[in-house]
Amino acid sequence: METITHNLVAVVIQILCFTLLIFPWNLIFTIIFAFISHIIFDALAVITYHTPEVQKEDKFWIVWHYFIYAVSLLSIVIFFIPYWLSMFFANVVDIWDWFTLRPIQKKKRKRTPESKWGDKLYFHPIVDWVREKLFFWLPKRIYKKSGILIEIVIILVFILLIGFLGGFTYLF
Ligand SMILES: [Zn+2]
Repeated sequence: METITHNLVAVVIQILCFTLLIFPWNLIFTIIFAFISHIIFDALAVITYHTPEVQKEDKFWIVWHYFIYAVSLLSIVIFFIPYWLSMFFANVVDIWDWFTLRPIQKKKRKRTPESKWGDKLYFHPIVDWVREKLFFWLPKRIYKKSGILIEIVIILVFILLIGFLGGFTYLF
């Protein structure tokens, strides 16, 4: 799913862990649950609009991605203090796969195109495995534009949940 969705889930996880658990378990379980949440929510992402490839000719795709990147950035700014720890671990799967491993692989393949270095180091195959085992029954809607509505509803539900848990009161 999109970064903002992972961030909001992370905020809820950190609030719950820090309300229900004592040190150091609050920290430990925030990290563990945040990490797992990425895998679960990415596995669920088949019900939302998630084209595997960039669609630069499609205006809808472009507008949606500008919007979702903007609100994702906003969510990082708003929740960074005090939720950075949970947000970091809820995105570490993407930070590693897309922003670390892939660029390194690209560089290596420029020199040796047949290089298989790093192929086994990706986290996202775990997502595919979880999806096949647990969520195989979900309708696949990754090319359906209406799928953005599902992601927007999930985002709104989590914003409400954060409000309900008092998560905004730390911020101001
Ligand atoms: Zn991901």
